[in-house]
Order: sequence, then structure tokens, then C-alpha cells
Amino acid sequence: MPDPRSTVLVVFGTRPEAIKLFPVVRALAQMPGLRVRTCVTAQHRGLLDQVLGIAGLTPDVDLDLMEPGQSLDRLTARLLTGLGEVMDAERPARVIIQGDTATAMAGALAAYYRRLPVAHVEAGLRSGDIHHPWPEEVNRRIIAPIADLHFAPTATAAAALARENVTAGVHVTGNTVIDALHWTQGRIAGEPALAAGLDDVAARFAGRRVILVTTHRRENFGDGMSSIARAIARIADRPDVAVLFPVHPNPAVGPVMDAILGDRPNVARMAPLDYPHFVRALEMCHLALTDSGGVQEEAPALARPVLVMRETTERPEGVAAGTARLIGADEDRIVSEVFTLLDDTGAYAAMARAHNPYGDGHAAARIAGVIADAVGR
Ligand code: UDP
Repeated sequence: MPDPRSTVLVVFGTRPEAIKLFPVVRALAQMPGLRVRTCVTAQHRGLLDQVLGIAGLTPDVDLDLMEPGQSLDRLTARLLTGLGEVMDAERPARVIIQGDTATAMAGALAAYYRRLPVAHVEAGLRSGDIHHPWPEEVNRRIIAPIADLHFAPTATAAAALARENVTAGVHVTGNTVIDALHWTQGRIAGEPALAAGLDDVAARFAGRRVILVTTHRRENFGDGMSSIARAIARIADRPDVAVLFPVHPNPAVGPVMDAILGDRPNVARMAPLDYPHFVRALEMCHLALTDSGGVQEEAPALARPVLVMRETTERPEGVAAGTARLIGADEDRIVSEVFTLLDDTGAYAAMARAHNPYGDGHAAARIAGVIADAVGR
């Protein structure tokens, strides 16, 4: 029987959590004396499995809790009950969660109910508005007083925690997404076949500037989504651009895009890309147009300007550095911001600077070191 005092339980359920935690799981596995167990809730089944595959991760426990159309109430209740049972069975010394999902929030709460210490990876992100991003801003605020280790990606995130009187156990580590990005770039360099599924589209779009689009935020569902679709249609009317658009599986996205965009030779809409293909798409693109959190962090590391189709962001570092711009989801604004970057070389050059406000690619090793120390005490 392994010693439960050395067991850490890493809990996650969605694509961004998996991308940002696989480097941590790998780093923890290098720590002598630690027993690492992974539990996935599969809050997003297909997108999660894509990441598990490329990261070579086989979860020890799979709760398989995805259910089409389930309410946040039902999802949260099932997560809390399911994760509590896993914690009772695994009896870990510590629980590790990431980010801002229902899985992370329920994981923290289930651990708290068992008086288990919680480490929070990517702590301290705050937009200041509980309705944007919804419900993620409140998920993060629920986790903060529960966790005793807070891995803040940036000094800004640590300062946000300090404003909530959370100062003990805060470590500024960088964001593990940069670790994931570097690791994946290395994998693709050694094995280009991992991202070869974009060869055809790269050949088709040669000579045009590629705009990478992703959208899936709840705040943009409905009118926002139609407005984004109409903007993409106007952008794609230009013969010098092409649009690469992996479409999120949420039913609020695809049908709107089908109805408004129809078939256009220079718009490649496709199923969500696995991470190596998405990294290649980021490398191929001239700029990213997105409402994603992770893409805001990855694009600056690759010197790609990122236009963020949101009103607020809990990732202000890119905006402060001038490589990201908050533009909302208004059709005219999206078109004019994209056209400015396409037509004004000075404006483009000012945004297309490689910098890493979100980390140096060594966050996971720092996090694993702190966790190993905490578990060893
Ligand atoms: N991503 C991916 N394939 C795609 C679109 C995005 O692998 O087709 C990755 C992206 O690189 C980023 C993460 O998914 O690391 C972001 O996930 P998402 O936008 O779903 O969530 P958010 O970051 O907004 O929480």
C-alpha cells in the first residue's frame, strides 16, 4: 500500500486545464518520493482527450462527467460528489487544480470539505467583473481562500491576490502554457508529421496573410457570435487574406458560422485542432482574432498580434505590453482593427513583438519543486 502522505492528486477536466497541467504532471513525476495520481472529470470530453493523447497521459481516474446541455448547477453537483468520492478513495496528501473551471472550483471545495490542502496553478487572474468571464471570475475567487499554495503566473496576478489579502504561499512561477507551447514546438520539430494535417491548407493559403480565429466565450453567444461571423465574412472578402478557423464544438458557435459564412475558398473552417496542429496554426498566422484565454498567452510568445474579442480580460499583461488589444465583439470594430493591422505596417510591427509576459517555459519545474517541498514537510 503506497504511503498516502506522498500522494498528490491532480484534477482537471477541460482542454485548457489539460494543456496547462500536463507539464506539471510531467515535472511532478520527476520528483523523488512523490506519488502522482491524475483524475479527469472530462467536463469537455473530446477536447480533453485530444490533449491527453499528445501529452501521453493516461488518467488514473476518469469520471467521464460530460453530459450534453447540462446546467452549471447539475455539472457542479456531479463534480463535487464525484471528486469527493475520488478523494476519499485516493486519500491524497494534497490536491492540485488549475485555472477557473467548474472542475477546478468543485475540486477545491471537495478538498476543503476533507481538510486537504489545495495547490492552485494559474492563481490570481482577475478581471474585476464577476460577469466577465462568467462564471470563471467567481470560480477563481472561490478557490483563492481555500488554496494554501497559489502559483501566480505573473507579478500582476500575485498583486491581485494580495489585494484580497492572500499573501502566504504565493509563488510567481510563469504560466505553464508556455512550457506546453515550448514542449510541443520541440515535439513538432522532431516529428513534423504531428502537425502535417495542415499541409494542404498551408499550400492553399500560400501568399495570403492568415488570420487565425477562435471563439467560444459564453459572453459572445447569441448576438456577439453573429456579429463575429459577419465581421469574418467582410474580412474574408479581401483577396489578400485567408481565415483559419477551428470551430469550437459548442452548438452556439458552428451553426451561426455555417449560416453567415457559407462556403468561401479563403475561409478554412475545421474541427478543433489537437495541440500540435494548433501550435502550427499559431505559427502560420499573421494575427490571431480570439476570445480565448490561452491564445492571449500563446500568441505574444510567438510574436503574433492578438485581437481579443472581449470587453475585459483577466490577462492584462499582453494589453499593457501592446501585443494584445481588447476590441469586443462589435462587427465594425473587429473589421476596422483587423484592417488596421493588415494595412498599417507600423501598427502591425508595434504589436508583433515576441515577448513572454506569461512565462519563460520553466513554470512547471518551479511548481513541482514547491509542491514536493510542501508534501515532504
Ligand atoms: N486550442 C487547441 N485547439 C484549438 C483551439 C485552441 O489546442 O482548436 C488550445 C489553445 O492553444 C489554448 C487552449 O486550447 O492553449 C485554449 O482553450 P480555450 O480557448 O478552449 O479555453 P480558454 O483558454 O479560453 O479557457
